[in-house]
Amino acid sequence: MDKMTQTVKKQALMQTYSRTPVKFVKGKGSYVWDENGEKYLDFTSGIAVCNLGHVPEKVKTKVTGQLDQIWHTSNLFEIGPQEELAEKLAAQSVFDRVFFANSGAEANEAAIKLARLDAKKRGKSGPIVTFKASFHGRTLGTLSATAQEKIQHGFEPLVPGFTYLPFNDITALRDLEKLKPIAVMFELIQGEGGVIPAEQDWVDALVRTCRKNDCLIIVDEVQTGMGRTGTLFAYEQYGFEPDIMTLAKGLGSGIPIGAMLAKEKIAQSFTPGTHGSTFGGNPLSATAGLATLETFAEENIIEHVQKQSIDFWTKLEDLKTQFSFIKEIRGKGLMAGLETEMEAVKITRAALAEHLLVLTAGPHVVRLLPPLVITEKETALFAEKMKTVFTKASQNNL
Ligand SMILES: *Cc1c(COP(=O)(O)O)cnc(C)c1O
Repeated sequence: MDKMTQTVKKQALMQTYSRTPVKFVKGKGSYVWDENGEKYLDFTSGIAVCNLGHVPEKVKTKVTGQLDQIWHTSNLFEIGPQEELAEKLAAQSVFDRVFFANSGAEANEAAIKLARLDAKKRGKSGPIVTFKASFHGRTLGTLSATAQEKIQHGFEPLVPGFTYLPFNDITALRDLEKLKPIAVMFELIQGEGGVIPAEQDWVDALVRTCRKNDCLIIVDEVQTGMGRTGTLFAYEQYGFEPDIMTLAKGLGSGIPIGAMLAKEKIAQSFTPGTHGSTFGGNPLSATAGLATLETFAEENIIEHVQKQSIDFWTKLEDLKTQFSFIKEIRGKGLMAGLETEMEAVKITRAALAEHLLVLTAGPHVVRLLPPLVITEKETALFAEKMKTVFTKASQNNL
């Protein structure tokens, strides 16, 4: 392809992303290769999607097998892998029923719709309360739920029915009683908003207030789910049972699928015709989800995350002691945010030059989401590369 054609091709894309000019053409485990054959250590997992690493063998085998059988039939018919995946998800969580979508935003849309239907049934009206710095998606409904001006700007009028409260603020929960919301929706670790874990005391108070006021609890585990924080779902570590949970990112290991899970009593509000999706949970994506969960069990991924995260956090603490401009490290399991005094994009850019992929979460937070299959050797390599980057940064050399 000559230069001219290349430029023209690029101009056909809408400019919704500020992309890094690197093209990855191959991935295996914790590594990706660009078109020149250069190898990079991936501590982004495609933004918490490739939790089992790139092209995980068992998922590949099962999906390839399904490709030979049937790809799509529509939800007008029974879909075997979808039923099996729903059963597995229900068995491994506190939920009873699952609705499948294609993305995180769609899973959250389904949660919002279900919460509204359920509230009507109970004769309740009121807003859904979400929290400052949250992120729930880019559809009109979910961006209205996302309490961030930069996500909403220009898309007004917003979908009504959302009210925002500050995150991790127990005193502000007094307003929750006054607002009489039908539901609250929140992330147990705010991902896009800066890797901010929900504090246990705040979650306790929130759950207590919700239970007292007949208000549903929706957890958005699109990023924290699928083993990321050291348990299959993050809510397990907080000692409460949500009414609704959403998943997407890691669920299909890179094949797009989203899911909304709910307790039986609430799930009953979804009856034929109330909600739907053409692609949601089709044979291909459901097989990817099923194979992903099977791999979690067969390869003891959760145990592995717990073990590797001890090593990971030790290395992060080391970096923090060595470099004073790292103000704070936050997170759980294999989800971490490094709050720095410098611009986070400068760090990601310098890391790329060291053939290490890391993310940002806001202007000053470097976000780390390594594959859950990470080894001690790879964590050591990560720490070494980060040290090089931070040394350059401390010499004002970025
Ligand atoms: C990524 C993300 C979403 C949106 O998921 P999409 O698949 O991009 O629609 C929603 N909630 C959280 C917490 C996320 O991290």
